[in-house]
Amino acid sequence: MSPLRLSAELVTAVRRVLPQGGTSYPLHEPLFGGKEWDYVKSCLDSGWVSSAGAFVGRFEQQICEVTGSEEAIATVNGTAALHLCLLAAGVRPGDEVIVPALTFVATANAVSYCGATPHFADSAETTLGLDPKRLAEHLATVGERRDGSLHNKTNGRRIAAVVVTHVLGHPADLDPLLSLCREQRLPLIEDAAEALGSTYKSRHVGRHGLLAALSFNGNKVLTTGGGGAVITDDEALAERVRHLSTTAKQPHAWRYDHDAVGYNYRMPNINAALGCAQLEQLSGLLHAKRALAARYASALAEVEGLRCVTEPAFARSNYWLNAVLIDAGDTGVRDELLKALHAEGILARPAWTLMHRLPAYAEAPRADLEVAKDIERRLICLPSSASLA
Ligand SMILES: *Cc1c(COP(=O)(O)O)cnc(C)c1O
Repeated sequence: MSPLRLSAELVTAVRRVLPQGGTSYPLHEPLFGGKEWDYVKSCLDSGWVSSAGAFVGRFEQQICEVTGSEEAIATVNGTAALHLCLLAAGVRPGDEVIVPALTFVATANAVSYCGATPHFADSAETTLGLDPKRLAEHLATVGERRDGSLHNKTNGRRIAAVVVTHVLGHPADLDPLLSLCREQRLPLIEDAAEALGSTYKSRHVGRHGLLAALSFNGNKVLTTGGGGAVITDDEALAERVRHLSTTAKQPHAWRYDHDAVGYNYRMPNINAALGCAQLEQLSGLLHAKRALAARYASALAEVEGLRCVTEPAFARSNYWLNAVLIDAGDTGVRDELLKALHAEGILARPAWTLMHRLPAYAEAPRADLEVAKDIERRLICLPSSASLA
């Protein structure tokens, strides 16, 4: 099909899904339909707005209930949560960390904040997440075991961890990744920033690896304004994360003693208040997002030349962002479609620019990224706010 015809058909199908009469459809907007005003007001009334207060603990408890995790530590954002996960997993300056090339830049940046270097790996078209088989092949080629650790034999650096991103909310294939990590004795960290409410084989994502990061930024499934959380089942790691997130201050009634370089990464009470109200509505939000995904799927089934990205068979996705993959796309066709959608106020977006193309990461080590490059050329994300359902 010609790009012109394809873009006309895509616009028509998307228009059928979106509520009539709108002039602009952003990619993802928050929805405040519960006790947000009450809870935020109670922070202002009590004076507890900052890094202590009852809503923080309550929010963490709710996160544990929703995910099934033993521990949750609320943070200022998802990037800080990722940074803390990497530190707690033992990533040190000079290390390398395996990260997908197809991810949001925060995943790679968190590695850099540790003084380590991201080492980019390829993705699978079925999940958009790290491809376990291709990663195993890559590690077999570049890795060598020395002094009990895996090293990159091309530069001698230790490979200290693997980070998997659940892209657009769709769970990556975790079991084979976990076997690979066990075999290579590498901790697996889950970037579940986009995946609150998604499960892999009936268990919430973020509960398969050693630690995971969640995000509650304004564009995510639910929001605390800015915010994130680390989840883990390991009590000692949770203790470490909590300590590092509060300037590594030793508990004492009046002394200021800090036993490490810590961070000011704790979520403020006012953000947690918003989060408590939002979490109370999670099941409704997830329901709305599935309904929207189903409507996109039926409307787009009639468009030849592209297909919807759907949850993998082993997973239940939160459908954070609905997306299509163009069958035979190049960036020219993709950009034609984006232009046509934007002309109608449909603020669709391409995939992230792959990490190795960013100036900060041009020199970083990488595997063959054939599949990620193909996805990058063919993916378009569509407006996905829960309010659209
Ligand atoms: C949003 C996001 C982050 C970062 O979360 P912030 O709260 O914005 O810092 C990290 N990784 C992925 C994949 C994300 O989508």
